[in-house]
Amino acid sequence: MDAWPTCAVPDLPGEGGPLRLFDTAAGEVRATAPDAVARLYVCGITPYDATHLGHAATYLTFDLVQRVWRDAGHQVHYVQNVTDVDDPLLERAAHTGDNWMNLAEREIQLFREDMTALRVLPPDEYIGAVEAIPEITDAIERLLEHGDAYHLDGDLYFPISAAPGFGSESGYDRERMLALFAERGGDPQRPGKRDPLDSMLWQGRRHGEPFWNTSLGAGRPGWHIECSVIALNRLGMGFDVQGGGSDLVFPHHEHSAAHAEALTGTAPFAKHYVHAGMIGLDGEKMSKSRGNLVLVSKLRGAHIDPMALRLALLDGHYRADREWTGGRLPAAEARLARWRSAVALPAAPSAEPLLAEVRAALADDLDTITALGAIDRWVATARDRPAGDPAAPTLVRDLVDALIGVAL
Ligand code: ZN
Repeated sequence: MDAWPTCAVPDLPGEGGPLRLFDTAAGEVRATAPDAVARLYVCGITPYDATHLGHAATYLTFDLVQRVWRDAGHQVHYVQNVTDVDDPLLERAAHTGDNWMNLAEREIQLFREDMTALRVLPPDEYIGAVEAIPEITDAIERLLEHGDAYHLDGDLYFPISAAPGFGSESGYDRERMLALFAERGGDPQRPGKRDPLDSMLWQGRRHGEPFWNTSLGAGRPGWHIECSVIALNRLGMGFDVQGGGSDLVFPHHEHSAAHAEALTGTAPFAKHYVHAGMIGLDGEKMSKSRGNLVLVSKLRGAHIDPMALRLALLDGHYRADREWTGGRLPAAEARLARWRSAVALPAAPSAEPLLAEVRAALADDLDTITALGAIDRWVATARDRPAGDPAAPTLVRDLVDALIGVAL
């Protein structure tokens, strides 16, 4: 399906260094080492509700990954999925009496508008689960042929014994896996499974639910195999970064990796598994089930400058769970106004050292706090002494655009 419009990224003098990122599987910050074309997969939305600040923070994180790689001279092949058929979507549609396809289309369109407003660079390939059903059924057929899938009352399951590396992405022990599997849409209690942690690859037709007639019978795909196949068929095994929110560490990313490893007989699925922290409100994780969402579209509707919102979300480390408080937006608006006034000056102190500082900070596991602080210091100096290099304000405007994604 169509993604959203891209925005131009200014060229900067010189080149940034290698991007280091925290890899969940390794438990440490490691350098990414992409080829000329860096390969990025980020799990997309299930379109049953509007984009909240937690989603926005996640997609901004991987937008920075793309920007830093580009600045280091790489092209980026970025793939994102849309889980446009799954239980939460169908449940929401049934609850509101909406048609599930209309609900999905409406929320996908709102997401596109939110991403455009936040100047998130779009994926090169934006793939819905529904449009990927033929390739997903092909993959499940292959798993069946190799004995890496089994039937259970009309559904198909993946036995975790088929992936020797199962557990290496999250590093969680079995007890924690079982608890999270139950909490996040898994079915550890279902009778007849070979292992409680086995995950559903294909769900046979259920009364009143959409289904597709395929070689596997009538039904619809599971969520984990959807991402395995969409990523594998476009990026290949061993792509550079698999990204998402930290609530995807288990079971989603563990199972997606396990499916792909069973399908190919090789490992790893991704060289880095990178996870963004959760955004909380009033001491609780922001989530649909808790009903405490701050929506990007609502803020846009209230005429909040999306660039201020972007700055507010980047003023915290991407990996940290952090609180959204009422003071964050006014602080970001004031910062944006200061930055804009500084880049409008006819001349300012040289910006070359600032470019090096911002590059170094972002390359160090996306340290946006240090990067924004360095820009603040240059801005303060420029506003105190607006003289020196006439090219400096333009360079700062360009570097803030290219690396932070904020248009001044
Ligand atoms: Zn996914």
